[in-house]
Amino acid sequence: MKGTVYQTTGLWYKVKLADNKFVECRLKGKLRLKDLDTTNPIAVGDEVTVEKSEKDYNIVSIDKRNNYIIRASPRHAKKNHIIAANIQQSLLVVSLKQPKTRQGFIDRFLVTCEMYHVPAIIVFNKKDLYKAKDFSKFEEMKILYESLGYQTLLASINDAASLKVIQEKLVGKRTLISGQSGVGKSSILNEIEPDLALTTKVVSNYNEKGQHTTTFATMYDLSFGGQVIDTPGIKMMSLVNLELEEIGHYFPEIRNLVNQCKFDNCSHLNEPDCKVLEALARAQIDENRFTTYFNIYNEVKDTNYWERS
Ligand code: GDP
Ligand code: ZN
Repeated sequence: MKGTVYQTTGLWYKVKLADNKFVECRLKGKLRLKDLDTTNPIAVGDEVTVEKSEKDYNIVSIDKRNNYIIRASPRHAKKNHIIAANIQQSLLVVSLKQPKTRQGFIDRFLVTCEMYHVPAIIVFNKKDLYKAKDFSKFEEMKILYESLGYQTLLASINDAASLKVIQEKLVGKRTLISGQSGVGKSSILNEIEPDLALTTKVVSNYNEKGQHTTTFATMYDLSFGGQVIDTPGIKMMSLVNLELEEIGHYFPEIRNLVNQCKFDNCSHLNEPDCKVLEALARAQIDENRFTTYFNIYNEVKDTNYWERS
């Protein structure tokens, strides 16, 4: 039987079978060991084959993933954790008020989306709280991000029209929802799909031994078609497996210029004839985004140095 993974709790996997029935599955022992680089061999969104034994359902194989998002495992230094697989887009909910989302947070998130080829939509929520200066900030952000190929929306849970626009973006797609705590992710989803009744709390489970385990992601079906993947407890995607030379490729405005720099391996930090630095000097590249590039570059440099020495 074929099925799709909707929730993983470590030992059990909630799988929706072709007949729309949900079953709790275990994983066959061999499969558990197959993928040594990741702490979880199966993630939400995976397409799997399930076999029924006398009393249990077992996952016996996983289909090849179209894409997946991973982050460094919180518990194992050298391993990665797959957050979700087979995603079609991501919706980043941010706010300019209560809480204010830092631009660096947005830009790091977008780097993750670029790494895994997932289109991103940025929702600026809580517009009912914005003052004139916040609206002009939004306009600035909108121009910046749309010029880079990302969609931006202005929204409020009190504004039905804005929620309708978000809903239309979700129809028929599998969307990963992200954003710092308190920006209104659950509120928006609950307004769009009241049946979900999401809570803001981190969803926790107790495994068979009574140990506390955190649910990393859960997928929900939308009544109007499509699914959303909620990732409670995941504050930030960490950037894993990055090489210094590829970082620029995840910034569209840098990517567009790299071939024109004098040196093939230009870091865009201090080389002569660097088209990226020239564009930055002419304010054609946003300074805050460049700072995020610079910070990521230094973090990756430090990490790779320690890993290799
Ligand atoms: P989450 O942590 O991202 O899921 O955020 P919640 O959905 O739990 O929302 C956090 C708080 O912000 C709650 O008190 C919501 O009522 C409030 N909130 C959510 N959206 C809006 C909005 O558009 N405007 C205002 N003023 N408050 C909102
Ligand atoms: Zn350069």
